[in-house]
Amino acid sequence: MEELVWDEGMSVGIDSLDDDHKQLIAILAQLMSAKIEKLDQQDIADVFEQLECYCQLHFAKEEAFLAKINYQQLVAHKQSHQDFIKQIPQLKRQWFGDASEQEVVKEQIVLFLQQWLIKHILEEDLDYVPAIHCYQQFDHYKNQKKAKNPWLRFFSVKLSSHLTLSHRVFITTLLPVVAVLILCLFILKANYQRYQNISKVLGFNSVITQVNGITHSLQAERGLSSGYTSSNYTSFAEQLSTRRKDTDDKITHFLWLLEQPENSEVKNNISGYMLKVQQVSTNLSRHRMHLDQKMVSFEDTYHAYTQLIEQLFSVAERLVHIEIGSSYGNDISAINAMLRYKEFVGQIRAIGLKMLDSNQAELYQNHDINILLGKQISTLRTFASSASLTKKSLCAEYCDAIRQRKQLEFSYLEVMRLDDKDARAAGWFKIMSDKVDKLNYILEGLINEFDNKIYDESLALKTEGYLIVFALSIFLLAAMFFALVLNYSIISPVRKLTYALNDMSAGQNNIHFEPMANKDEIGSMQLAFEKLRRKLLQADVYKATVSQQQKEIKYRKSQQDHFQQLALTDALTGAVNRHHFNEVLDQEIANVNNHGRPLSIMLLDIDHFKIVNDSYGHGAGDEVLVLFYQTCFEAVRSSDVVARIGGEEFVIIMPNTELANAQKFAERLRKKIALLEINIAGKQISVTVSIGVSQWQKDYFINAESFVDHADKSLYQAKNSGRNKVVVA
Ligand code: GH3
Ligand code: MG
Ligand code: MG
Repeated sequence: MEELVWDEGMSVGIDSLDDDHKQLIAILAQLMSAKIEKLDQQDIADVFEQLECYCQLHFAKEEAFLAKINYQQLVAHKQSHQDFIKQIPQLKRQWFGDASEQEVVKEQIVLFLQQWLIKHILEEDLDYVPAIHCYQQFDHYKNQKKAKNPWLRFFSVKLSSHLTLSHRVFITTLLPVVAVLILCLFILKANYQRYQNISKVLGFNSVITQVNGITHSLQAERGLSSGYTSSNYTSFAEQLSTRRKDTDDKITHFLWLLEQPENSEVKNNISGYMLKVQQVSTNLSRHRMHLDQKMVSFEDTYHAYTQLIEQLFSVAERLVHIEIGSSYGNDISAINAMLRYKEFVGQIRAIGLKMLDSNQAELYQNHDINILLGKQISTLRTFASSASLTKKSLCAEYCDAIRQRKQLEFSYLEVMRLDDKDARAAGWFKIMSDKVDKLNYILEGLINEFDNKIYDESLALKTEGYLIVFALSIFLLAAMFFALVLNYSIISPVRKLTYALNDMSAGQNNIHFEPMANKDEIGSMQLAFEKLRRKLLQADVYKATVSQQQKEIKYRKSQQDHFQQLALTDALTGAVNRHHFNEVLDQEIANVNNHGRPLSIMLLDIDHFKIVNDSYGHGAGDEVLVLFYQTCFEAVRSSDVVARIGGEEFVIIMPNTELANAQKFAERLRKKIALLEINIAGKQISVTVSIGVSQWQKDYFINAESFVDHADKSLYQAKNSGRNKVVVA
């Protein structure tokens, strides 16, 4: 049996417990040596006592420690300890038990203790090592007072008990992907909303362009109509008819544009407004009819047109309610202000015509003109606060309220100097119309610029949207690719390693890893696994070799024993042979000489054995010899020795036997032999034996030879006196 030795792999990581285990192994080694060296009883009893004491101390220490770390299997562990302690006295009793089987029992006890210790250390104690590590780490964290959150550990344990590694990696990859997806959807939605609004603004702006054209024409028509009514329907008739046609063309064109499929969206958005335009158109026709019938005054005309223009303007105001950036809000305000400003100039043009006709010398004596000028100043302020510098420079002197006021006064006085009323009206109309045209030109510039700006913005938004979708697609592809790579490089190898380790723990070493391209921790793990696998394989092969060698050694030993046996015994019967008989007898004589105990021998010779051979054959003779020996061997005591010293001659050495007892025994044996019925090949054979008995006498015999000769003489006498006899010398 191999001796159990300490290996660092048995360490539980606690020095004091490791020392205990080493000590237990040392005690076991003492028992092993006791088995070999045959120590006396007291020493062995001491070893058992030591074992019991040490186990109790060690178990108490171990249990206290496990209780401290809150080990879950503590109860089962304690039970195992108690069971073992109970067994020690029993083992001790067995050790000192029945002398005949002592060697086997000792062997079994040592084997049991070895196996128990291996199980205790390698199975039970190593089971609590993870708990110790966990406890020590926790303790370490506590001592370090680092706020490492135990919640993190709690959640990771929870997570790992519900989700496999691949699911955890999948979720880790999925979370940012979903987050980015949601974020992009929000951005895209906002972007789309903005794009929609801007498209709407674009549509409205094109409507404003048209409306501006119509109002501009209407403003001119108002001026001409005012001049026409003020001059008592004499002046401006021709110009008015041309202008009316122009207005109608513009309205028709506007309505035609709205019917175009590309403007359907705009049309839907301004459906309410369209009703107004139609109303304006109807009112305009009615008013024109009244004017042609000379049924309306200047005031009627002025108010009618002003109201129509106001109604048309409302579309520009709608733009303000669409949610767009502040810079666009400013642009719209500037456009609105300019529309209004131009309208006020148009209104002054109309009122001026009336004033000229009624010979009012001063422009600012008129209450309406003053109000209009006030409104102009306020509108110009709005324009100044919302328009950019470039826009302001576009407007330049036309937006300078004081200058305009002076120019207006000057122009009015100029035309008043003319004698002819018609010439005055025509002059005033021209000057003011130039102004209105100029303002219209500025307004168109503003609207165009705004249109371009909005168009650029819508393009930019479109590009931004495409870019976001593109970037999102790239990100999703990258995330998918990364997840696949992660799966290929981590999950699959870890899973394969787990299977391989499970197989290995079940005793299978056939899964192997190629030297991987991986240079990371997983690659190292695979490499370590491969090394471990090869070591285990080596150990297995080594074990197999050793076991084969042991088998061979055992075989040789058995052969040796066999030959040794052959050297000591007779090949036919198995009795002690002549050579060994001499040795045994010498030894016994030496014992007798030392201790003074009696020693007898008897010589046996089968009678007329030659006849057996001759009658039944040599083979039958052999069988008779074997049976003869067995009968003798069964009859003698265990301390007696039966030897074959010639063909059919045997000797029995009987230590501790007086001559008289030897004689009695010889007589019994003789009778037993004579009564033997030997059945060979259906034939009954019986034999008799002649026996010569002698007792050792120290002073009488010189040596073993003379002792045997003495018995031989008795045997001779037995033969001569008729055979089947016992003769005692
Ligand atoms: P006695 O009563 O005078 O002893 O007569 P015996 O025939 O037994 O004596 P003897 O010495 O004349 O013959 C011994 C015979 O034993 C001769 C021999 O063939 C036979 N013998 C000796 N060894 C063996 C053996 O190993 N096997 C067999 N079958 N016979 C043997
Ligand atoms: Mg003989
Ligand atoms: Mg004989």
